[in-house]
Amino acid sequence: MLPNSFSFSESDPVDKILIQAVGGKRISQEEALLLYEEGDFLKIQMVARHLREKIRPHTQASYTMFRVVNYTNYCNVECNFCSFMDEIGNGKGYILSLDEILEKMDYAVEMGADQLFLQGGVYPDIEYQYYKDVISGVKKRFPDMHIRAFSPVEIINLETITGRPLKDVLQELKSIGLDSVPGAGAEILTERMRQIISPKKASVEEWVRAMETCHEVGLPGSANIVFGSEETKKEVIDHLQVIRDLQDRTGGFLSFIPWTFQPQTKRFKVRPVPTHEYLKVLGISRIFLDNISHIETSVMVLGKGVGQLALYSGADDISSVVIEENVLRSFGLKTEKEAHKFLSEGGFEPVRRDLLYQERYSGAPAV
Ligand code: SF4
Repeated sequence: MLPNSFSFSESDPVDKILIQAVGGKRISQEEALLLYEEGDFLKIQMVARHLREKIRPHTQASYTMFRVVNYTNYCNVECNFCSFMDEIGNGKGYILSLDEILEKMDYAVEMGADQLFLQGGVYPDIEYQYYKDVISGVKKRFPDMHIRAFSPVEIINLETITGRPLKDVLQELKSIGLDSVPGAGAEILTERMRQIISPKKASVEEWVRAMETCHEVGLPGSANIVFGSEETKKEVIDHLQVIRDLQDRTGGFLSFIPWTFQPQTKRFKVRPVPTHEYLKVLGISRIFLDNISHIETSVMVLGKGVGQLALYSGADDISSVVIEENVLRSFGLKTEKEAHKFLSEGGFEPVRRDLLYQERYSGAPAV
């Protein structure tokens, strides 16, 4: 049934798509594009919100508590938007030792985190043993810590430096403690946009192969899109199609996260994405990705105001509190209490979940 009495007409082609989506019909790529080009934002928002309620009651929104640790900022991929990497050989970058990583995790655990999100640049000189030592070392110190690590471009690097089949490498990492993988580094999954944004990064085929192999060996994760550059609307929908097709084959994506490019990059064109367009893409993601349960919004990147609107536009989760020793300028929520306050003020009961989307608890924060 259509949500409340908002006027939808069967004779309007765009309304008809939304009516059918509410009825459970999968929308096509062409229909998604029509929604993006001509759809009424408020109607898309309303339908996306209606579909969100099949996953989580509209009175609730979830969050999680992980610590991001970037083990190195040396990288040879040179994405045109990256303000994090240091060129290999310039001597100014860092590689964290296991002890340094454990020290960061001690602090994170004190702050209430129970999950590690480990990512870094691509540095082929780091030996495979380092990755194994880090995973097993963290697991040994924190046996209940969920470890999510390595984006597709790092995974492909592991395949290259070991010279072993990707499946073997992933199975080994899983056996020593890797629990899931971020589907990061997708940006826009079309070859044209990858040439503009990050020509040396994993191709669409490589990105899909890495994620598919992860899912096959039992390492689930998330997927994202980063838009607000020179991409066309069709390329946004093409990206969603790549994700939906892969999810049909594996079922390994637990969530999808739409982001926008940040304005700091000067190396390709970044346009400010109006709030209603961000929310429209988020809503279309909820409608189109009928095989992915959770849609996350990034309060850290988009701010609290947009974050709250997103929770009324199809998102059911705000991802993680930002746990850092020295918090840089960020819109993020820095403690669990702040997350609770933010969600409660937006009219939601906060629900803490883990990286597998299992509910930890609702009610007052533990820390
Ligand atoms: S792969 Fe990651 S660290 Fe390397 S340049 Fe790209 S975004 Fe930066």
